[in-house]
Amino acid sequence: LSFSSCDLPQKLLQNIEAAGYEMPTPVQMQAIPAALVGKSLLVSADTGSGKTASFLVPIVSYAANFNCEQFSNQKKPLAMVLTPTRELCIQVEEQAKLLGKGLPFKTALVVGGDAMARQLHRIQQGVALIVGTPGRLIDLLSKHDIELDAVSILVLDEVDCMLQRGFHEQVMQIFRALSQPQVLMYSATISKEVEKMASLMVKDKAVISV
Ligand code: AMP
Repeated sequence: LSFSSCDLPQKLLQNIEAAGYEMPTPVQMQAIPAALVGKSLLVSADTGSGKTASFLVPIVSYAANFNCEQFSNQKKPLAMVLTPTRELCIQVEEQAKLLGKGLPFKTALVVGGDAMARQLHRIQQGVALIVGTPGRLIDLLSKHDIELDAVSILVLDEVDCMLQRGFHEQVMQIFRALSQPQVLMYSATISKEVEKMASLMVKDKAVISV
C-alpha cells in the first residue's frame, strides 16, 4: 500500500511527499484506509510509529472533501484531537499545519499557558481542527458557546496517559458534547480502562496493533 493508492486529495498527497513521507508506516497502512471509510479505531501504537499522521491524514482528507462538496469554507470545527499535554498538542498542530498546507484547513490550539481569549477568537474565525488538552477544552466549552455539531472525527491520543492524569470524566464530557463522532483512539497499552472507555463511546470498532 502506498499513499497515492489511498483515495486522498491531490494537495494532501503533495504535502505528504513534501514532508518526506515516502511509504506509509505499518500503523498508517492499517489505520488510514479504515479511518477513511469512517470506522472507529482502537490503535495500540507508540510514539515514533507515525501514529500522528495516521489520524491527521484522514482528518485533512475529510476536511478537504467536505469543503469541496459544500463549495464554501466550513466555519465550524470538523474534527477534534485530545492529547494529555500541551507539548504533544503543539506537535500535533504543527504536523496538521504541514499536512493541511494550501488547503482550507485552519487549526486551533486549546491548551493552558496561552490566553483563552485568543484561542476562542481563533475558533470563532473558523477552524477545521481543534487540538487541545481535556482540562482546558472543558474550561473553554463551559464558558463559551462553541458549535460542535459538525465535529465528525474525535481523536484521543495517548489515552492511557490521559486516564493516568485523571482525565476520564473530562474526556467523556467532551465526547458527549459531540454528535456521535467517529472515534480514533490511540494508546501505548490497551488496558481494561482504555477498553472500557472505547466501549462506552462506540459499538463497532476496528482494533489495530502494530
Ligand atoms: P509519531 O509516531 O506520530 O510521533 O511520528 C514520528 C515521526 O515520524 C514524526 O517526526 C513524523 O514526521 C515521522 N513520520 C510519520 N509518518 C512517516 C512516514 N510515512 N514516513 C517517514 N516519516 C514519517
